[in-house]
Amino acid sequence: MSEPTEIRRIVVVGGGTAGWMTAAALSRFVGNGRRVVLVESEAIGTVGVGEGTIPPILEFNAMLGLDEAEFLRETSATYKLGIDFVGWTEPGDRYFHQFGKIGRPLNGVPFHQLWLRNRQNPAVGPLADYSMSAVAAARHRFGHPTAEAADPLSQIAYAFHFDASAYGRFLRKYAESHGAERIEGRIVGVEQDSDSGFVTAVTLEDDRRVRGDLFVDCSGFRSLLLGQTLGVGFEDWSHWLPCDRAIAVQSERVEPLTPYTRTIAQPAGWQWRIPLQHRTGNGHVYCSPQMDDDDAERILLETLDAPPTTTPHRLRFTAGRRSKAWEANVVSIGLSSGFLEPLESTSIHLMQHGIQKLLSLFPGRGINPIERDEYNRHMINSYEPVRDFLILHYIANRRSEPFWRQLREMSLPDTLQHKIDLFREHGRVFRYNDELFDVPSWIAVMLGQGIIPGECDPLAGALPEDEVLRAMAELRSAYEGTAERLPLASDFIAQRVAAAA
Ligand SMILES: Cc1cc2nc3c(=O)[nH]c(=O)nc-3n(C[C@H](O)[C@H](O)[C@H](O)COP(=O)(O)OP(=O)(O)OC[C@H]3O[C@@H](n4cnc5c(N)ncnc54)[C@H](O)[C@@H]3O)c2cc1C
Repeated sequence: MSEPTEIRRIVVVGGGTAGWMTAAALSRFVGNGRRVVLVESEAIGTVGVGEGTIPPILEFNAMLGLDEAEFLRETSATYKLGIDFVGWTEPGDRYFHQFGKIGRPLNGVPFHQLWLRNRQNPAVGPLADYSMSAVAAARHRFGHPTAEAADPLSQIAYAFHFDASAYGRFLRKYAESHGAERIEGRIVGVEQDSDSGFVTAVTLEDDRRVRGDLFVDCSGFRSLLLGQTLGVGFEDWSHWLPCDRAIAVQSERVEPLTPYTRTIAQPAGWQWRIPLQHRTGNGHVYCSPQMDDDDAERILLETLDAPPTTTPHRLRFTAGRRSKAWEANVVSIGLSSGFLEPLESTSIHLMQHGIQKLLSLFPGRGINPIERDEYNRHMINSYEPVRDFLILHYIANRRSEPFWRQLREMSLPDTLQHKIDLFREHGRVFRYNDELFDVPSWIAVMLGQGIIPGECDPLAGALPEDEVLRAMAELRSAYEGTAERLPLASDFIAQRVAAAA
């Protein structure tokens, strides 16, 4: 092969959420005369699901300079303050995984330790009563965080639910306005350099040839370039996350509009309910060896809270990731690089993370192996803690169905086993490296799933009981009072959308 050349033409293969997020960010940031070209096929279409996000999406929107009100209007988005888990420990039980912090430390002792110490006291109530996000969510209210640290509202944290197709259109408009070029057509061939194996062009059905120096594979589950062309293997995690099917359906909007996702355990999986401005997105994720497709569809349709507005759409997947996300001159982003079930809405985040890492390691002349390996290291390090966090939701259940029994008996990844063992001692949990979910998320799900430490932190035990109870009561009433003064999330959104118009 000739001398490495500077990356001038970047070809994004695929126009789903991953493709348009990538094209939007690259067209905005790579500059210096570089071209961003996106190839997609309307005939193939997109997965068309993926409507829940987590708070780091705000960083992505800010990076692109998006206006929140316009974003809400264009994508029919609503605010999300966390996830309501229903029936995950046993039928009839529920807990809330809030975004943002839980309480405030007292004398340097983390708040959840105070709660653990006093949780048997009936005046103390559930952990969620001490989270600004959870308390606002329970009242269907919303407000932006404030900058004043003493204000309870400074602790609210949020993300969005949005219409996946509208999000794609919105980002397409953005990318095209920043110079990205879209090519419509089905890719039927991939050309590679005979020496290096680097991809040099993709060819379309009508014999057009799209040449590039760097290719971003956003072709979805097909993994057209990374998997099919370059043969990068898939690490299968279905022994830990056995759900392998989903059925998605939309239904009419219901009142009140909840500023959170509801996730309801089912006999062989779980169901999501995501409220948007104009409709609700629903889906049933399940394990096919334990549940028939028709039964899964029946359960989904019988448990909708409003009439369906679309025909149910069936999807198949396998939990896991490609062994490398970057091989030769192909970087994969989105479903082409891996998939973890949407229990904590992490796929869009993993795309965002992949895009941000690509920008921070963007190649100069040719592909530098040390930078490519660094990228792969970051992506591996970001997938595995997410996998562990998802498994955590399944393992401590007390449900009677075979699916749930099997999950509570499985052996765990060492990394997760360590976190649980440590937590069981004195309720301690730490965030390693740059793992996605922070300590309050682990605490909410550990305690929500009924993993209760043998004892609380000895430092919590040393604080005077009346002082602790007084501080807890003050905190709780501050969150409640603040939440009561917030507008309903539906009113807040309507006002923002009207202002954007
Ligand atoms: C059931 C389910 C629920 C989910 N829920 C969430 C969620 O709540 N939150 C979240 O963050 N994520 C969620 N996800 C993940 C999310 O949906 C996907 O990550 C997202 O839609 C992006 O997919 P993608 O762009 O990688 O692939 P796709 O949407 O499949 O896009 C692939 C693109 O490649 C193109 N393409 C493929 N082959 C060719 C070819 N030969 N020629 C030309 N073009 C081609 C297609 O036309 C399409 O444009 C969910 C996923 C599933 C399966």
